[in-house]
Amino acid sequence: MIGILSATCFVFAMATMGFGATYDDVVVIYSPHPDDETLSFASTIMNATKGEAAVHVVMLTRGGASGAIHAVNQRLESMGEAPIEVKTFMEARIREATLALRRMGVPASHIHIRDYPDGALKPDHVAEEIRAFESEFPGALHATTTYLDRHPDHIAAGEALLTLYDSGHVARAQFHVPKYLWDNDMPGELDSWEPEWTAPYQEALNAFQIWLPEAGYYSVGYKSARGSFEQRAEEPRSRWHGPHGETQKNSTSTK
Ligand SMILES: [Zn+2]
Repeated sequence: MIGILSATCFVFAMATMGFGATYDDVVVIYSPHPDDETLSFASTIMNATKGEAAVHVVMLTRGGASGAIHAVNQRLESMGEAPIEVKTFMEARIREATLALRRMGVPASHIHIRDYPDGALKPDHVAEEIRAFESEFPGALHATTTYLDRHPDHIAAGEALLTLYDSGHVARAQFHVPKYLWDNDMPGELDSWEPEWTAPYQEALNAFQIWLPEAGYYSVGYKSARGSFEQRAEEPRSRWHGPHGETQKNSTSTK
């Protein structure tokens, strides 16, 4: 009797401590710059927040290398206001992206702000993040920009995830293709999109257009990539492929 009781207690303890638990309902998105999460991962985010999955978003850099700071400062100077420093600019970028994610339903506690160097992101930086999240949520789906991208930071993030997939450290991986590369014979298919996602997504896109200097909003997204935001209002779906260009159907990444 004592033996059975002990065994039961042991099994209960194992369950409560999370041994052997899998987190196939957790999605972790690694966004190289503050706007990629909104421009390239919307379907994945909306699918998670409106469904049963928990979504975490890791903002890898704060986007300090963007030339959009000059457009911001020109506008401020034309208004007789003092220009902003890069630190304030980066805070503004993170503020915009965070507001967009909140509008898409991502809880504040699931938005993870990092400070890796914009323009010099390395696969090792991203691999460290992926390993940490896989350790916390074994079996999670990891999504980042494709290694076939042309931006070095996007490539670094994609290469980190592909390497960890190939070495068996993660089992589920998505590689997202930015809209500006869709015509370049890239692998990948479009995600599905539900009509009720359009309104909150439009609100998320609008976060990058807010000009409210007294509150730290400088419309950075629209100043750096207005065309991309306008395109996304028309075509919100994300496009992605599995490891080594696998199609969504063949990859292990869909639940
Ligand atoms: Zn980017």
